[in-house]
Amino acid sequence: MTSIRDNLAEIQEKIHTAAANCGRNPADITLVGVSKKHGTEKMHQAIDAGLTDLGENYIQEAVDKIDAIGRQAARWHFIGHLQSNKARFAVQYFDLIHTVDKLKLAKEIDKQAKKIEKRQKILLQVNIAEEETKSGAGAHEVIDLAGEVMKFEHLELHGLMCMPPYFDDPEHARPYFRHLAKIREQMLDAGVDKNAMTHLSMGMSHDFSVAIQEGATLVRVGTAIFGTRS
Ligand SMILES: *Cc1c(COP(=O)(O)O)cnc(C)c1O
Repeated sequence: MTSIRDNLAEIQEKIHTAAANCGRNPADITLVGVSKKHGTEKMHQAIDAGLTDLGENYIQEAVDKIDAIGRQAARWHFIGHLQSNKARFAVQYFDLIHTVDKLKLAKEIDKQAKKIEKRQKILLQVNIAEEETKSGAGAHEVIDLAGEVMKFEHLELHGLMCMPPYFDDPEHARPYFRHLAKIREQMLDAGVDKNAMTHLSMGMSHDFSVAIQEGATLVRVGTAIFGTRS
């Protein structure tokens, strides 16, 4: 079994290669280690090996683990489906929430952020393949949602996130990544502030190199760092 340190080194090398192959600066790409369903020991190992950003999917699990590890020990990314009644915890514990997909949720996050005088950084999740089973705003709705979200005083929009269907061949995910990048371009053309569109969160263990070629700035990698989830 390879160590987490070795896995991280290998992934960072792949990030560098993918960036170099398309003329991008690897420093513009942040590796988010997805630690859902893995214990705090492995997370400590990853942090000790230099991982700065961790992603979690489930609020209760995340709260317990972040309390154990320390709020300041990493930048914390919430990447799971967020229910409005858990928004309070997401705001307390997470630096960036990737999965805002409805006005109602945005409103609740704003309200909770106001209570603790925080400006909560968020991304808008796009249901890029229009899958019934997945959350995310529709590609045609997300521009309007961005406009609404930017009116909230305690929200800070930083970009877009997507999770295409799983394909054995990562090349098949490319059109979806490209589509998300295109939506970003359309938003910029429509006058959305560049600072509100700095990030594209896309790419997982098996397809992050393709996502980087299509413009990803945040790649969310779980299995390739921490191993399979039980
Ligand atoms: C679990 C998860 C990941 C990581 O997936 P791996 O295939 O283990 O790299 C990334 N993004 C989201 C939204 C996830 O739920």
